[in-house]
Amino acid sequence: MIELKGLSKIYTSGKGVKVTALNGVSLSLPERGMVFVIGKSGSGKSTLLNILGMLDKFDGGDMLVDGRSVKEFSEKESDAYRSSRVGFVFQEYDLLEDYTVRSNVELALDLLGECSASGKVDAVLKTVELDGLQDRKPKELSGGQKQRVAIARAAVKNPSLLLCDEPTGSLDSATGHSIFVLLKKLSKTGLVVVVTHDERAAEEFGDRVLRLNDGIIVSDIGVGEQPHTKAMAIDEKKCSLSFKNTFRLGAGYLKKRPVRLTLTIILCLITFVMMGVADA
Ligand code: ADP
Ligand code: MG
Repeated sequence: MIELKGLSKIYTSGKGVKVTALNGVSLSLPERGMVFVIGKSGSGKSTLLNILGMLDKFDGGDMLVDGRSVKEFSEKESDAYRSSRVGFVFQEYDLLEDYTVRSNVELALDLLGECSASGKVDAVLKTVELDGLQDRKPKELSGGQKQRVAIARAAVKNPSLLLCDEPTGSLDSATGHSIFVLLKKLSKTGLVVVVTHDERAAEEFGDRVLRLNDGIIVSDIGVGEQPHTKAMAIDEKKCSLSFKNTFRLGAGYLKKRPVRLTLTIILCLITFVMMGVADA
């Protein structure tokens, strides 16, 4: 279970101006269900989501996971929380364009050091209704299908917490609705927190709706908390990539940045020459 106690987050812009993104947020989240976060732009929704996923640090108050302050987490525990307990879904899908649907999803398991041949990938692709499209690349998919791949990539890790930041923001309303239906399905076994501007979806699918304004929760409406049943174990699993994917990702990165690649090669050559000269 996750609890926030008087949590605050202050950003300081480049010119030294301070912005209070979250101002004393206290919240207790259930183990399962669908929680919507609504609020106008700049009200602190993404900041809240990022802190829940430990992608960002906070400045005041505390966040407790199963009664333990995240301030006490070791670096390994924080990494394990981010990589195996939490799944992220963003508005712009963030898929790897050179990878197929299957490889995009497999990569998430690979990062956890799990075997991707376990049938988990096929099962999750079926859940998101993408079976049959596994060999396509993202550019051959519609927006709704791409978002399903992103959800599959997050869900394959079987996270206790799925954080979705405006997951339907780039989709038409019918496609968006089908994404909410899918997220609702996933909220039966874990907690799904969704940031959206879609008031109607929040009303239709939300078990709970939080409203943020200027970093403050101004309303929190919903059914009561579910009983605490499942402990959110944080195992310090080593996160590693297979050699194949490490090489592929590295090569893809350098291919997209030819200037950096050329500079790296030149610098390496200079280093080797200097080492040779020094040795001689
Ligand atoms: P929302 O997702 O509700 O639109 P955000 O959580 O992104 O809002 O932002 C909350 C406030 O914090 C806004 O005023 C925003 O400008 C500010 N903010 C967000 N990120 C940063 C940052 N990295 N640096 C400075 N200010 C930021
Ligand atoms: Mg936002």
